[in-house]
Amino acid sequence: MKKRRLYVLFSVLLAIALVVGVTGSALAFPNKIIKVQILALNDFHGALDPSKGIGGAEYLATYVKNLEALNENTVKVSAGDMIGASPLLSALFHDEPTIQAFNLMGFDFSAAGNHEFDEGWTELLRMQYGGCSPIDGCYEGVPAFTGATFDYLTANVIRLDDEETLFPPYMIREYGNIKVAFIGISLESTPTIVVPSGVAGLEFLPEVRTINHTVQYLKDNEGIKAFVILLHDGAGPAPDPNGCNPTDPFFTNIIKNINPEVDVVITGHSHNAYKCSIEVKKNYHPMLVTSAGSSGKFLTDINMDIYNTNGQVAAVTGQNISIVDANVTLDTDMKALLDQYRAISVPIANQVVGEITADLTRTQDTAGESALGDVIGDAQLLATSDVDAGSAVVAMTNPGGIRTDLFYTQSVGEGDGNVTYGEAFAVQPFSNSLVTMTLTGAQLKAVLEQQFQVSRMLQISDSLHYSWSASAPLGSKIVSMQIDSVDVDPAASYRITINNFLAGGGDGFTTFLAGTDLLTGMIDLDAFVNYLQAASPISPPALDRITKLP
Ligand SMILES: [Zn+2]
Repeated sequence: MKKRRLYVLFSVLLAIALVVGVTGSALAFPNKIIKVQILALNDFHGALDPSKGIGGAEYLATYVKNLEALNENTVKVSAGDMIGASPLLSALFHDEPTIQAFNLMGFDFSAAGNHEFDEGWTELLRMQYGGCSPIDGCYEGVPAFTGATFDYLTANVIRLDDEETLFPPYMIREYGNIKVAFIGISLESTPTIVVPSGVAGLEFLPEVRTINHTVQYLKDNEGIKAFVILLHDGAGPAPDPNGCNPTDPFFTNIIKNINPEVDVVITGHSHNAYKCSIEVKKNYHPMLVTSAGSSGKFLTDINMDIYNTNGQVAAVTGQNISIVDANVTLDTDMKALLDQYRAISVPIANQVVGEITADLTRTQDTAGESALGDVIGDAQLLATSDVDAGSAVVAMTNPGGIRTDLFYTQSVGEGDGNVTYGEAFAVQPFSNSLVTMTLTGAQLKAVLEQQFQVSRMLQISDSLHYSWSASAPLGSKIVSMQIDSVDVDPAASYRITINNFLAGGGDGFTTFLAGTDLLTGMIDLDAFVNYLQAASPISPPALDRITKLP
């Protein structure tokens, strides 16, 4: 099987030997050095609006324009997660605005991060090639969506139907007589962190192996000596955005195993900003490894000096530049684009959908329960308890799906305590579907035990109460559990509502894979909004559903 995949990868590379865009002027550099500038970011996550004076596409666009004016040999790239887990302005239009914004900035290439697969790979094909949303159709009053003008590159993502890579594995830029290869690599563990249906029919190959095979192929067949990897995987925090922590396992596990002739690795996924120069080969320039944090807070400016005699890279430098809005004027073309989407999204975001009497936070008490988690559990049970909606008796949700808190004083528009649609969206932005399934009492207990193995406490509806022992060993922590005040019978069947992420075994909750009679229901956000409308004003529930015993 392994050998066959290797062959597949090479045949794919042979089939898609793409050379694009002959640009640049070798003659302008009599010292025989070609300077190539790469502007890079990662994990933008649809952050089109600034946050506290930092980032925002209108300001990012100005930084990009100013920097690219310095060098006509400029390539603009991303290491993935440009879309997905986005704010309402982008998410309301299935991230079309973010793709349009990067088109406007003239981006060239992007790796596909795990979040590019959030709505499934056929939706990612639409992001690349255009067309109206299969869910919401075409949007009025905004530009027609004709897809990304930049190229997604996925050297390690194979379609099982045609055994080709989902998108081209690499692209080559030529400057005079020298060539630079850009290779896109997705996070190899993507299938374990996105909804399974989103990646069904795809195989994700190992990151390092794919990089090395592709580099070797391009050396042998294209004579390329300059390599830039767009890798959606990354390292832990560095001391500062232009610092590095070279002891991070990422460098040992990934970077040190990459062919040392790779010149630049633009990374992502960890949301940390760093800049590292890693010594990988004697008498050779260090490998530059960068990440621009997340949400457009930084832009990485990389400069490669390349000998035009032999195409070898002489030196690579880079720095992370903070996108500080006060330092530049906003780009009016970008503002004109985004204003069209804002005209539709702002009135929706500002609609008041409920009221809270105090902060509802996702902060868990020592037992593992949070006020906001309780409310979301109750919302999901209400949405699925009717006979035709699933007959659920318990709802449970993953804590990572609750993305922010609801604060009493943060509401816009109508005054304190009001919850707007935009605020509710920020809490539940993933558009997960609710799934109701049958579990036995024994399986339900196994789910609760699994929480302590994966170090994540599920948030639950008020119908379930249980206690757990801090001192008991893994696998026997649950002391007692009741549904509607009746002890759970290990042999009885119970209808349990979760989201489609958990239903696919997400966060390591593999017990849910054994559930039967699955019924897919409404989107989690709709359930939350319906509950806010029905149950307001909502006070923080007493945290008495989960009890921690010594
Ligand atoms: Zn990621």
